[in-house]
Amino acid sequence: MKPHVARKRFGQNFLVSPGVVAKIVDAIHPLADDTLVEIGPGLGALTEPLLARLDHLHVVEIDRDLIARLRERFPRERLTIHEGDALAFDFASLAHDLRVVGNLPYNISTPLLFHLAACADHVRDMHFMLQREVVERMVAPPGGSEYGRLSVMLQYRFAMERLFLVPPGAFNPAPKVESAVVRMTPRPREALVVVDEALFAEVVKEAFSQRRKMLRNTLRERLGEEEWAELEIDPKRRAEELTVGDYVRIANRLSPPSDRPRES
Ligand code: SAM
Repeated sequence: MKPHVARKRFGQNFLVSPGVVAKIVDAIHPLADDTLVEIGPGLGALTEPLLARLDHLHVVEIDRDLIARLRERFPRERLTIHEGDALAFDFASLAHDLRVVGNLPYNISTPLLFHLAACADHVRDMHFMLQREVVERMVAPPGGSEYGRLSVMLQYRFAMERLFLVPPGAFNPAPKVESAVVRMTPRPREALVVVDEALFAEVVKEAFSQRRKMLRNTLRERLGEEEWAELEIDPKRRAEELTVGDYVRIANRLSPPSDRPRES
């Protein structure tokens, strides 16, 4: 078979470092009967060692040439290949206790994270390799320039840990940037206190749409001086200075009083 030529449009940077592969698989710690799905198996760098520990594995891959190779290499009863775009894939349909892993295509990482966050109720944990800069934004605390919409939305739904960094030389072709592996574990439903999650998402989006402006201006249509005082949040502050908890309280304040939790 001819060697595969990496396709830029599919964000293909294949892992070629056995040491890094082993470190990722150890961090995932797969157990034989776990239901696990790998996004973008590519040439199988993670697929093979994962299958060595699992009875069965699901993968979602968009590149038909890579799918043909995977079919030749792995028996169907051990590897289920879902052909197509991970952004449109219904992850919730696979299990109620799903484990998701992937060395993700960096060009679609943010929309993919939002897509996956929407099915967090069906997920046990997720381990991803991403651009280091994206991982830093995901885990960033309030107060800095890395803290943004991605941080707030993901930190509300998941506990997140940056596990380790991976240098460009671990891939072929080598990307221009450093990478990092992150673990995301959904918070239990009882810990989620947002009354209206769509409203919460809108407020966070609006607040960070002009992150240098005071919240008094960006959220002008939603909150007046009286509401800010009631929330005990200084409206002269900027989006990046508010905690996830502050955004939860703002969104709940905007929900009808009958829906609000008593101590929000
Ligand atoms: N897992 C392999 C590895 O670590 O060497 C490949 C990782 S490579 C960074 C990303 C993989 O995701 C490629 O196999 C690519 O074809 C696949 N991919 C890209 N866009 C995708 C999408 N929208 N849906 C599913 N897979 C996609």
